[in-house]
Amino acid sequence: MNKSESTIWNECVEIIQKNVNPQSFKTWFEPIKPVKYEDNILTIQVPNKFFYEWIEENYIDLLRLAVQKVMGEKGSLEYQILMDNHRKIGGVNEQKPNDNDEITNPFVIPGIKKIKVESQLNNKYTFENFIEGDCNKLARSAGLEISMKPGITSFNPLFIFGDTGLGKTHLSHAIGNEIITKFPNKQVLYVTTEQFTNQVINAIKSNAINDFMTFYQMIDVLIIDDIQFLANRPKTQEIFFNIFNQLHQNRKQIILTSDRPPKDLQDVEKRLISRFKWGLSADLNSPEYDTRLNILKTKMIQERVNLSEELVEYICHHVKNNVRELEGVLISLVARASLNKTIINLDLIREVVEQFVSTDSKEISVENIKKLVAEHFELPIEKLHGTTRKRQIVIARQLSMYLAKSFTTSSLKSIGSNFGGKDHSTVIYSIKAVQDLMDTDTLFKETVQQLEKKVQLSLTS
Ligand code: ADP
Ligand code: MG
Repeated sequence: MNKSESTIWNECVEIIQKNVNPQSFKTWFEPIKPVKYEDNILTIQVPNKFFYEWIEENYIDLLRLAVQKVMGEKGSLEYQILMDNHRKIGGVNEQKPNDNDEITNPFVIPGIKKIKVESQLNNKYTFENFIEGDCNKLARSAGLEISMKPGITSFNPLFIFGDTGLGKTHLSHAIGNEIITKFPNKQVLYVTTEQFTNQVINAIKSNAINDFMTFYQMIDVLIIDDIQFLANRPKTQEIFFNIFNQLHQNRKQIILTSDRPPKDLQDVEKRLISRFKWGLSADLNSPEYDTRLNILKTKMIQERVNLSEELVEYICHHVKNNVRELEGVLISLVARASLNKTIINLDLIREVVEQFVSTDSKEISVENIKKLVAEHFELPIEKLHGTTRKRQIVIARQLSMYLAKSFTTSSLKSIGSNFGGKDHSTVIYSIKAVQDLMDTDTLFKETVQQLEKKVQLSLTS
Protein backbone atom coordinates (compact mmCIF):
# COMPACT_ATOMS: atom_id res chain seq x y z
CA MET A 1 0.00 0.00 0.00
CA ASN A 2 1.21 3.44 -0.84
CA LYS A 3 1.58 5.76 2.06
CA SER A 4 0.78 9.38 1.68
CA GLU A 5 3.35 12.10 2.20
CA SER A 6 1.75 13.19 5.43
CA THR A 7 1.76 9.69 6.88
CA ILE A 8 5.42 9.30 6.03
CA TRP A 9 6.28 12.70 7.40
CA ASN A 10 4.32 12.09 10.60
CA GLU A 11 6.28 8.94 11.16
CA CYS A 12 9.51 10.85 10.67
CA VAL A 13 8.30 13.54 13.00
CA GLU A 14 7.70 11.02 15.73
CA ILE A 15 11.30 9.96 15.58
CA ILE A 16 12.55 13.51 15.39
CA GLN A 17 10.43 14.66 18.25
CA LYS A 18 11.97 12.11 20.54
CA ASN A 19 15.41 13.36 19.76
CA VAL A 20 15.25 17.14 19.99
CA ASN A 21 14.05 19.44 22.73
CA PRO A 22 10.51 20.78 22.41
CA GLN A 23 11.62 24.33 21.70
CA SER A 24 13.82 23.29 18.81
CA PHE A 25 11.15 21.03 17.50
CA LYS A 26 8.67 23.86 17.51
CA THR A 27 11.07 26.23 15.83
CA TRP A 28 12.57 24.03 13.18
CA PHE A 29 10.26 21.14 12.47
CA GLU A 30 6.76 22.32 13.02
CA PRO A 31 6.84 24.76 10.12
CA ILE A 32 7.84 21.99 7.72
CA LYS A 33 5.14 20.74 5.40
CA PRO A 34 5.29 17.48 3.49
CA VAL A 35 4.26 18.08 -0.11
CA LYS A 36 4.93 14.95 -2.09
CA TYR A 37 5.95 11.35 -1.75
CA GLU A 38 6.92 9.62 -4.92
CA ASP A 39 9.56 7.09 -5.97
CA ASN A 40 10.92 6.82 -2.47
CA ILE A 41 11.44 10.55 -2.37
CA LEU A 42 9.70 12.63 0.20
CA THR A 43 9.48 16.30 -0.67
CA ILE A 44 9.16 18.67 2.21
CA GLN A 45 8.65 22.37 2.12
CA VAL A 46 10.66 24.69 4.34
CA PRO A 47 9.86 28.37 4.77
CA ASN A 48 13.16 29.70 3.55
CA LYS A 49 16.74 29.00 2.85
CA PHE A 50 17.91 29.70 6.38
CA PHE A 51 15.66 27.06 7.63
CA TYR A 52 17.07 24.66 5.21
CA GLU A 53 20.62 25.60 6.08
CA TRP A 54 19.96 25.43 9.77
CA ILE A 55 18.41 22.03 9.50
CA GLU A 56 21.19 20.80 7.28
CA GLU A 57 23.77 22.16 9.65
CA ASN A 58 22.27 20.88 12.89
CA TYR A 59 19.89 18.04 12.24
CA ILE A 60 21.15 16.30 9.17
CA ASP A 61 22.07 13.09 10.97
CA LEU A 62 18.79 12.91 12.74
CA LEU A 63 16.87 13.56 9.57
CA ARG A 64 18.79 10.93 7.71
CA LEU A 65 18.12 8.46 10.43
CA ALA A 66 14.42 9.20 10.48
CA VAL A 67 14.06 9.06 6.72
CA GLN A 68 15.78 5.74 6.44
CA LYS A 69 13.88 4.22 9.31
CA VAL A 70 10.57 5.22 7.85
CA MET A 71 11.24 4.88 4.15
CA GLY A 72 13.92 2.22 4.05
CA GLU A 73 17.43 2.23 2.57
CA LYS A 74 16.35 3.85 -0.67
CA GLY A 75 14.45 6.65 0.98
CA SER A 76 15.56 10.18 0.32
CA LEU A 77 14.46 13.69 0.94
CA GLU A 78 13.97 16.68 -1.26
CA TYR A 79 13.46 20.20 -0.12
CA GLN A 80 11.28 22.81 -1.55
CA ILE A 81 12.11 26.26 -0.43
CA LEU A 82 9.40 28.80 -0.28
CA MET A 83 10.98 31.95 -1.52
CA ASP A 84 7.93 34.21 -1.23
CA ASN A 85 9.32 37.71 -1.01
CA HIS A 86 12.82 36.48 -1.70
CA ARG A 87 12.02 34.92 -4.95
CA LYS A 88 13.54 37.69 -6.97
CA ILE A 89 16.77 37.30 -5.15
CA GLY A 90 19.55 36.26 -7.37
CA GLY A 91 17.28 36.13 -10.36
CA VAL A 92 16.73 32.59 -9.27
CA ASN A 93 13.26 32.24 -10.40
CA GLU A 94 12.75 34.81 -13.09
CA GLN A 95 12.51 32.55 -16.04
CA LYS A 96 10.75 29.66 -14.44
CA PRO A 97 7.82 28.59 -16.52
CA ASN A 98 5.78 27.39 -13.58
CA ASP A 99 5.07 30.67 -12.01
CA ASN A 100 4.36 29.72 -8.46
CA ASP A 101 6.03 30.98 -5.38
CA GLU A 102 8.31 28.10 -4.82
CA ILE A 103 11.63 27.04 -5.97
CA THR A 104 12.26 23.41 -5.97
CA ASN A 105 15.76 22.66 -4.98
CA PRO A 106 16.18 18.99 -5.34
CA PHE A 107 18.96 17.47 -3.40
CA VAL A 108 19.15 14.27 -1.67
CA ILE A 109 20.18 13.15 1.71
CA PRO A 110 22.76 11.89 2.35
CA GLY A 111 25.09 13.92 0.27
CA ILE A 112 24.94 17.21 -1.39
CA LYS A 113 24.72 20.06 0.98
CA LYS A 114 23.75 22.88 -1.27
CA ILE A 115 20.76 24.45 -2.87
CA LYS A 116 21.07 24.53 -6.59
CA VAL A 117 20.82 28.06 -7.89
CA GLU A 118 19.61 28.61 -11.43
CA SER A 119 22.65 30.01 -13.17
CA GLN A 120 20.67 32.17 -15.60
CA LEU A 121 23.26 31.32 -18.22
CA ASN A 122 22.46 31.06 -21.88
CA ASN A 123 23.92 27.78 -23.02
CA LYS A 124 24.22 28.99 -26.58
CA TYR A 125 27.19 31.10 -25.59
CA THR A 126 30.14 28.77 -25.39
CA PHE A 127 33.89 28.88 -25.86
CA GLU A 128 33.52 26.70 -28.90
CA ASN A 129 31.55 29.32 -30.76
CA PHE A 130 33.51 32.22 -29.36
CA ILE A 131 36.02 32.62 -32.15
CA GLU A 132 39.53 33.43 -31.09
CA GLY A 133 41.44 36.32 -32.64
CA ASP A 134 44.09 38.85 -31.71
CA CYS A 135 41.23 41.10 -30.71
CA ASN A 136 40.22 38.85 -27.82
CA LYS A 137 43.21 36.63 -27.14
CA LEU A 138 43.99 37.70 -23.58
CA ALA A 139 40.40 37.82 -22.39
CA ARG A 140 39.54 34.51 -23.98
CA SER A 141 42.52 32.64 -22.63
CA ALA A 142 42.13 34.14 -19.17
CA GLY A 143 38.52 33.01 -19.32
CA LEU A 144 39.56 29.48 -20.23
CA GLU A 145 42.12 29.43 -17.45
CA ILE A 146 39.49 30.51 -14.96
CA SER A 147 37.12 27.83 -16.18
CA MET A 148 39.66 25.22 -15.24
CA LYS A 149 40.42 26.70 -11.83
CA PRO A 150 37.66 29.05 -10.76
CA GLY A 151 38.68 31.21 -7.84
CA ILE A 152 42.17 29.84 -7.73
CA THR A 153 43.96 31.78 -10.44
CA SER A 154 45.17 35.31 -9.86
CA PHE A 155 42.55 36.49 -12.35
CA ASN A 156 40.12 37.41 -9.64
CA PRO A 157 38.18 39.36 -10.48
CA LEU A 158 38.39 38.94 -14.22
CA PHE A 159 37.38 42.31 -15.58
CA ILE A 160 36.39 42.10 -19.25
CA PHE A 161 35.92 45.40 -21.00
CA GLY A 162 35.30 46.67 -24.51
CA ASP A 163 32.86 48.50 -26.73
CA THR A 164 29.40 47.23 -27.36
CA GLY A 165 28.98 44.23 -29.62
CA LEU A 166 32.48 42.86 -29.10
CA GLY A 167 31.52 39.78 -27.11
CA LYS A 168 31.60 40.66 -23.41
CA THR A 169 28.30 39.01 -22.65
CA HIS A 170 29.09 36.01 -24.82
CA LEU A 171 32.47 35.44 -23.21
CA SER A 172 31.19 35.80 -19.68
CA HIS A 173 28.44 33.24 -20.34
CA ALA A 174 30.98 30.94 -21.98
CA ILE A 175 33.11 30.99 -18.83
CA GLY A 176 30.08 30.23 -16.68
CA ASN A 177 28.91 27.41 -18.92
CA GLU A 178 32.34 25.87 -19.04
CA ILE A 179 32.62 25.94 -15.26
CA ILE A 180 29.27 24.23 -14.89
CA THR A 181 30.35 21.52 -17.29
CA LYS A 182 33.59 20.94 -15.46
CA PHE A 183 32.30 21.46 -11.94
CA PRO A 184 28.60 20.63 -11.81
CA ASN A 185 28.47 21.32 -8.09
CA LYS A 186 29.65 24.88 -8.34
CA GLN A 187 27.01 27.51 -7.94
CA VAL A 188 27.35 29.81 -10.90
CA LEU A 189 25.20 32.89 -11.18
CA TYR A 190 24.95 35.38 -14.02
CA VAL A 191 23.21 38.68 -13.43
CA THR A 192 23.20 41.96 -15.24
CA THR A 193 23.97 45.02 -13.20
CA GLU A 194 20.40 46.16 -13.84
CA GLN A 195 19.01 42.98 -12.34
CA PHE A 196 21.38 43.17 -9.43
CA THR A 197 20.34 46.76 -8.75
CA ASN A 198 16.67 45.83 -8.85
CA GLN A 199 17.27 42.97 -6.48
CA VAL A 200 18.97 45.32 -4.06
CA ILE A 201 16.07 47.75 -4.28
CA ASN A 202 13.54 44.96 -3.72
CA ALA A 203 15.52 43.50 -0.87
CA ILE A 204 15.66 46.85 0.85
CA LYS A 205 11.96 47.38 0.30
CA SER A 206 11.02 44.03 1.74
CA ASN A 207 13.51 44.28 4.55
CA ALA A 208 15.41 41.29 3.28
CA ILE A 209 18.85 42.69 2.74
CA ASN A 210 20.43 40.12 5.03
CA ASP A 211 18.78 37.29 3.13
CA PHE A 212 20.02 38.89 0.00
CA MET A 213 23.59 39.01 1.24
CA THR A 214 23.43 35.43 2.46
CA PHE A 215 22.10 34.32 -0.86
CA TYR A 216 25.01 35.89 -2.70
CA GLN A 217 27.48 34.35 -0.29
CA MET A 218 26.43 30.91 -1.49
CA ILE A 219 27.64 31.66 -4.98
CA ASP A 220 30.93 30.16 -6.15
CA VAL A 221 31.17 31.99 -9.44
CA LEU A 222 29.50 35.35 -9.75
CA ILE A 223 29.22 37.00 -13.15
CA ILE A 224 27.96 40.55 -13.31
CA ASP A 225 27.47 42.07 -16.73
CA ASP A 226 27.80 45.75 -17.61
CA ILE A 227 29.11 46.90 -14.28
CA GLN A 228 29.39 50.48 -15.58
CA PHE A 229 25.70 50.79 -14.69
CA LEU A 230 26.67 50.88 -11.04
CA ALA A 231 27.38 54.55 -11.64
CA ASN A 232 25.45 56.83 -9.33
CA ARG A 233 23.99 54.00 -7.30
CA PRO A 234 25.75 54.35 -3.97
CA LYS A 235 23.58 51.90 -2.07
CA THR A 236 23.96 49.17 -4.67
CA GLN A 237 27.68 49.88 -4.74
CA GLU A 238 27.90 49.49 -1.01
CA ILE A 239 26.08 46.17 -1.03
CA PHE A 240 28.10 44.97 -3.94
CA PHE A 241 31.29 46.01 -2.19
CA ASN A 242 30.41 43.76 0.73
CA ILE A 243 29.47 40.84 -1.46
CA PHE A 244 32.62 41.29 -3.47
CA ASN A 245 34.78 41.23 -0.36
CA GLN A 246 33.11 38.16 1.07
CA LEU A 247 33.36 36.21 -2.14
CA HIS A 248 36.89 37.29 -2.86
CA GLN A 249 38.03 36.41 0.61
CA ASN A 250 36.53 32.97 0.26
CA ARG A 251 38.30 32.49 -3.06
CA LYS A 252 35.10 32.54 -5.03
CA GLN A 253 35.43 33.62 -8.63
CA ILE A 254 34.15 37.00 -9.73
CA ILE A 255 33.77 37.99 -13.36
CA LEU A 256 32.77 41.49 -14.35
CA THR A 257 32.19 43.13 -17.68
CA SER A 258 32.15 46.78 -18.54
CA ASP A 259 32.20 49.07 -21.53
CA ARG A 260 35.34 50.73 -20.23
CA PRO A 261 38.41 49.91 -18.12
CA PRO A 262 38.12 50.26 -14.34
CA LYS A 263 39.98 53.53 -14.23
CA ASP A 264 37.44 55.18 -16.53
CA LEU A 265 34.36 54.12 -14.59
CA GLN A 266 32.49 57.21 -13.58
CA ASP A 267 30.67 57.76 -10.34
CA VAL A 268 31.81 54.47 -8.95
CA GLU A 269 33.47 54.50 -5.55
CA LYS A 270 37.26 54.42 -5.50
CA ARG A 271 37.40 51.43 -3.18
CA LEU A 272 35.39 49.42 -5.70
CA ILE A 273 37.49 50.52 -8.63
CA SER A 274 40.63 49.57 -6.80
CA ARG A 275 39.22 46.10 -6.19
CA PHE A 276 38.30 45.74 -9.83
CA LYS A 277 42.00 46.16 -10.53
CA TRP A 278 43.06 43.39 -8.16
CA GLY A 279 42.76 40.64 -10.71
CA LEU A 280 43.12 40.90 -14.43
CA SER A 281 41.59 43.48 -16.74
CA ALA A 282 41.38 42.18 -20.27
CA ASP A 283 39.99 44.07 -23.22
CA LEU A 284 38.03 43.01 -26.26
CA ASN A 285 38.82 44.92 -29.43
CA SER A 286 37.25 45.21 -32.85
CA PRO A 287 37.96 41.99 -34.72
CA GLU A 288 40.63 42.08 -37.38
CA TYR A 289 39.80 40.96 -40.92
CA ASP A 290 40.71 37.29 -40.51
CA THR A 291 38.76 37.00 -37.31
CA ARG A 292 35.77 38.62 -38.97
CA LEU A 293 36.01 36.00 -41.70
CA ASN A 294 36.13 33.22 -39.14
CA ILE A 295 33.25 34.59 -37.16
CA LEU A 296 31.09 35.14 -40.21
CA LYS A 297 31.74 31.64 -41.47
CA THR A 298 30.86 30.17 -38.11
CA LYS A 299 27.66 32.17 -37.98
CA MET A 300 26.82 31.03 -41.51
CA ILE A 301 27.00 27.45 -40.39
CA GLN A 302 24.80 28.24 -37.41
CA GLU A 303 22.27 30.05 -39.60
CA ARG A 304 22.58 27.44 -42.33
CA VAL A 305 23.43 30.02 -44.98
CA ASN A 306 25.73 29.42 -47.83
CA LEU A 307 27.56 32.36 -49.39
CA SER A 308 30.34 32.37 -51.92
CA GLU A 309 33.83 33.32 -50.78
CA GLU A 310 33.56 36.56 -52.73
CA LEU A 311 30.42 37.62 -50.91
CA VAL A 312 31.83 36.69 -47.53
CA GLU A 313 34.90 38.74 -48.27
CA TYR A 314 32.82 41.69 -49.35
CA ILE A 315 30.93 41.69 -46.08
CA CYS A 316 34.08 41.36 -43.98
CA HIS A 317 35.79 44.16 -45.85
CA HIS A 318 32.95 46.50 -45.12
CA VAL A 319 31.58 45.59 -41.73
CA LYS A 320 34.38 46.29 -39.34
CA ASN A 321 33.28 47.78 -36.10
CA ASN A 322 31.86 44.93 -34.17
CA VAL A 323 30.60 41.42 -34.20
CA ARG A 324 27.00 42.32 -33.57
CA GLU A 325 26.89 44.24 -36.85
CA LEU A 326 28.47 41.35 -38.66
CA GLU A 327 25.79 39.08 -37.27
CA GLY A 328 23.14 41.67 -38.03
CA VAL A 329 24.13 41.80 -41.68
CA LEU A 330 23.90 38.04 -41.98
CA ILE A 331 20.54 37.84 -40.28
CA SER A 332 18.99 40.61 -42.32
CA LEU A 333 20.37 39.07 -45.48
CA VAL A 334 18.65 35.84 -44.68
CA ALA A 335 15.46 37.65 -43.78
CA ARG A 336 15.48 39.77 -46.91
CA ALA A 337 16.25 36.86 -49.16
CA SER A 338 13.51 34.69 -47.78
CA LEU A 339 10.99 37.52 -47.69
CA ASN A 340 11.51 38.43 -51.32
CA LYS A 341 12.27 34.88 -52.33
CA THR A 342 15.48 36.03 -53.94
CA ILE A 343 18.96 34.67 -53.80
CA ILE A 344 21.63 36.49 -51.92
CA ASN A 345 23.80 38.25 -54.45
CA LEU A 346 26.23 41.12 -54.33
CA ASP A 347 23.53 43.73 -54.97
CA LEU A 348 21.47 42.61 -52.03
CA ILE A 349 24.55 42.41 -49.86
CA ARG A 350 25.62 45.93 -50.82
CA GLU A 351 22.23 47.24 -49.88
CA VAL A 352 22.15 45.51 -46.52
CA VAL A 353 25.75 46.32 -45.66
CA GLU A 354 25.22 49.95 -46.53
CA GLN A 355 22.35 50.17 -44.10
CA PHE A 356 24.41 48.75 -41.32
CA VAL A 357 27.53 50.68 -42.03
CA SER A 358 25.79 53.99 -42.51
CA THR A 359 23.32 53.78 -39.67
CA ASP A 360 25.59 52.12 -37.22
CA SER A 361 28.98 53.35 -38.34
CA LYS A 362 31.27 55.09 -35.98
CA GLU A 363 30.69 58.75 -35.65
CA ILE A 364 33.34 61.34 -36.19
CA SER A 365 33.92 63.47 -33.14
CA VAL A 366 33.83 67.24 -33.02
CA GLU A 367 37.47 67.00 -31.97
CA ASN A 368 38.40 65.16 -35.15
CA ILE A 369 36.53 67.65 -37.29
CA LYS A 370 38.45 70.48 -35.70
CA LYS A 371 41.66 68.63 -36.40
CA LEU A 372 40.82 68.13 -40.07
CA VAL A 373 39.86 71.77 -40.51
CA ALA A 374 42.88 73.08 -38.63
CA GLU A 375 45.14 70.93 -40.80
CA HIS A 376 43.43 72.16 -43.92
CA PHE A 377 43.91 75.79 -43.00
CA GLU A 378 47.30 75.11 -41.48
CA LEU A 379 46.29 76.59 -38.18
CA PRO A 380 47.01 75.40 -34.67
CA ILE A 381 43.86 73.80 -33.32
CA GLU A 382 43.65 76.17 -30.34
CA LYS A 383 42.99 79.05 -32.69
CA LEU A 384 39.55 77.57 -33.31
CA HIS A 385 38.71 78.10 -29.66
CA GLY A 386 39.63 81.73 -29.45
CA THR A 387 37.79 84.89 -30.26
CA THR A 388 40.13 86.25 -32.93
CA ARG A 389 38.29 88.14 -35.62
CA LYS A 390 40.99 87.47 -38.19
CA ARG A 391 39.06 86.47 -41.25
CA GLN A 392 40.74 83.18 -42.01
CA ILE A 393 40.44 82.00 -38.44
CA VAL A 394 36.84 83.07 -38.23
CA ILE A 395 36.07 81.12 -41.38
CA ALA A 396 37.87 78.03 -40.15
CA ARG A 397 36.03 78.19 -36.85
CA GLN A 398 32.63 78.66 -38.48
CA LEU A 399 33.31 75.93 -40.95
CA SER A 400 34.24 73.51 -38.17
CA MET A 401 30.98 74.22 -36.42
CA TYR A 402 29.10 73.75 -39.67
CA LEU A 403 30.73 70.36 -40.24
CA ALA A 404 30.21 69.36 -36.64
CA LYS A 405 26.52 70.04 -37.03
CA SER A 406 26.20 68.03 -40.23
CA PHE A 407 28.40 65.08 -39.28
CA THR A 408 27.81 64.56 -35.59
CA THR A 409 24.76 64.21 -33.42
CA SER A 410 26.12 66.75 -30.96
CA SER A 411 23.71 69.44 -29.88
CA LEU A 412 24.33 73.09 -30.75
CA LYS A 413 25.12 73.70 -27.14
CA SER A 414 27.70 70.98 -26.94
CA ILE A 415 29.26 72.02 -30.25
CA GLY A 416 29.57 75.55 -28.88
CA SER A 417 31.23 74.30 -25.74
CA ASN A 418 33.78 72.50 -27.90
CA PHE A 419 34.88 75.84 -29.29
CA GLY A 420 36.04 77.53 -26.14
CA GLY A 421 32.63 77.83 -24.54
CA LYS A 422 30.61 79.57 -27.23
CA ASP A 423 26.88 79.56 -26.79
CA HIS A 424 24.40 77.91 -29.09
CA SER A 425 23.39 81.11 -30.85
CA THR A 426 26.99 81.58 -31.96
CA VAL A 427 26.84 78.12 -33.50
CA ILE A 428 23.59 78.93 -35.32
CA TYR A 429 25.09 82.13 -36.56
CA SER A 430 28.22 80.33 -37.80
CA ILE A 431 26.26 77.71 -39.69
CA LYS A 432 24.20 80.39 -41.38
CA ALA A 433 27.34 82.34 -42.28
CA VAL A 434 28.87 79.28 -43.94
CA GLN A 435 25.70 78.61 -45.93
CA ASP A 436 25.54 82.22 -47.09
CA LEU A 437 29.13 82.27 -48.12
CA MET A 438 28.72 79.03 -50.04
CA ASP A 439 25.94 80.64 -52.05
CA THR A 440 28.08 83.54 -53.13
CA ASP A 441 31.60 82.20 -53.23
CA THR A 442 32.23 79.18 -55.43
CA LEU A 443 35.80 78.83 -54.28
CA PHE A 444 34.66 78.64 -50.70
CA LYS A 445 31.98 76.16 -51.66
CA GLU A 446 34.67 73.95 -53.15
CA THR A 447 36.66 74.18 -49.95
CA VAL A 448 33.63 73.07 -47.98
CA GLN A 449 33.03 70.17 -50.33
CA GLN A 450 36.65 69.14 -50.10
CA LEU A 451 36.48 69.10 -46.35
CA GLU A 452 33.22 67.18 -46.39
CA LYS A 453 34.98 64.54 -48.47
CA LYS A 454 37.80 64.36 -45.97
CA VAL A 455 35.37 63.84 -43.15
CA GLN A 456 33.58 61.12 -45.13
CA LEU A 457 36.86 59.42 -45.82
CA SER A 458 37.87 59.45 -42.19
CA LEU A 459 34.57 57.74 -41.43
CA THR A 460 35.09 54.84 -43.79
CA SER A 461 38.79 54.29 -43.21
P1 ADP B 1 28.74 42.83 -25.81
O1 ADP B 1 28.21 42.16 -24.58
O2 ADP B 1 30.21 43.13 -25.73
O3 ADP B 1 27.95 44.02 -26.26
P2 ADP B 1 27.89 40.37 -27.06
O4 ADP B 1 28.59 39.39 -26.19
O5 ADP B 1 26.45 40.57 -26.86
O6 ADP B 1 28.64 41.78 -26.99
O7 ADP B 1 28.19 39.98 -28.57
C1 ADP B 1 27.41 40.44 -29.64
C2 ADP B 1 27.20 39.30 -30.59
O8 ADP B 1 28.44 38.99 -31.22
C3 ADP B 1 26.74 38.04 -29.90
O9 ADP B 1 25.76 37.43 -30.68
C4 ADP B 1 27.99 37.17 -29.84
O10 ADP B 1 27.66 35.81 -29.94
C5 ADP B 1 28.76 37.62 -31.03
N1 ADP B 1 30.21 37.54 -30.83
C6 ADP B 1 31.00 38.45 -30.24
N2 ADP B 1 32.29 38.07 -30.25
C7 ADP B 1 32.32 36.86 -30.87
C8 ADP B 1 33.36 35.94 -31.20
N3 ADP B 1 34.65 36.18 -30.90
N4 ADP B 1 32.99 34.82 -31.84
C9 ADP B 1 31.72 34.58 -32.16
N5 ADP B 1 30.70 35.40 -31.89
C10 ADP B 1 30.98 36.54 -31.25
MG1 MG C 1 26.59 42.72 -23.35
